[in-house]
Amino acid sequence: MLNILPFLKSLLSIPGLSGYEDPVARLIQAEWQPLVDELSLSRLGSVHGFKRGAGADPRPSIMLAAHMDAIGLMVTQIEDGFLRITPIGGVDPRILPGQAVVVHATGADAKEDLPGVIVMPLARLLPPDNGNDVVDIAHLFVDVGLLPSKVASLVRVGDLVSFGAEAVEMSGEIVSGHSLDNRASVTALTLCLQELQSRSHTWDVWAVATVQEELTYGGAVTSAFQLRPDLAIAIDTTFAKGPGANGWQTFPLGKGPTFGRGPNIHSYLFKQFKELAERLEIPYATEIMPESSGTDGMAMQITAEGIPNFVLSIPIRYMHTPVEMVGLKDIQRAGRLLAEFIAGLELDFMSTITWDD
Ligand SMILES: [Zn+2]
Repeated sequence: MLNILPFLKSLLSIPGLSGYEDPVARLIQAEWQPLVDELSLSRLGSVHGFKRGAGADPRPSIMLAAHMDAIGLMVTQIEDGFLRITPIGGVDPRILPGQAVVVHATGADAKEDLPGVIVMPLARLLPPDNGNDVVDIAHLFVDVGLLPSKVASLVRVGDLVSFGAEAVEMSGEIVSGHSLDNRASVTALTLCLQELQSRSHTWDVWAVATVQEELTYGGAVTSAFQLRPDLAIAIDTTFAKGPGANGWQTFPLGKGPTFGRGPNIHSYLFKQFKELAERLEIPYATEIMPESSGTDGMAMQITAEGIPNFVLSIPIRYMHTPVEMVGLKDIQRAGRLLAEFIAGLELDFMSTITWDD
């Protein structure tokens, strides 16, 4: 198995907030170029990697979707050289003060990104109900350390602000950093493509890095419509067990991916993945998704006349914070499972699908 750490770390060091995925899309295209037969972008900017199957024409196809967008912030006002901010996606304001950020400045004199930090006023300067509790994002600022006149020429309202902290390699093959949701899954999908280099597969494969999952599922729904695959798999992150998180909706970190079970997932595919993991002796957990999966799978399942869908997730701790945490082994396991599933797909697989569980 290839060393996935360098690619994962490069993914974590590059911006790509929801709706503005271009920088990360370019990195993914460069990585996928030698791994696929054709590479293109959807009209909304999702990356489509096409890997031709060996079966006779017309071949069925499978779409593997991992969203590449990340949560972050946007500048709403500039006050005396300090930047007011608002979230893009589900940012928890409790973790913001003290964070290192990068301001992607687009003002008239801007030539490069500006490093900054998120700061908050002294408690006594805040409204009484906000002094000692979580400080509302409306009271937070980004300080880029420059004079107001300089800031005015560099930064514009609407500029993007992404998390700036470097990923941390921890003991036990654990990595912590921002944007592991969902760059961990993009890495797993890339591993799957690498593994498929030496495996024959009859089906066509569409590897898709989708845009805008955190906001609208807009990338998944439009790419599924355009590519019209026979099957679709969403690869995303889920909640790992951690401090204060031990219920049935959480899963051990580094102990295997999860298989979604619920109305958003075709039960036959769930069964197939379970059997596959057991045969390969890859650990996994069943993730109950009684309503919606909250992933690209929701959009793909109800595209066109409907697409049988599966949701494969990688547990991470501290979801939607700058210190998300993932087990590298789980990324490898997810990539391997995807590749093995694809390699095992017979040309007539669609006619074998049943609802009898
Ligand atoms: Zn996600």
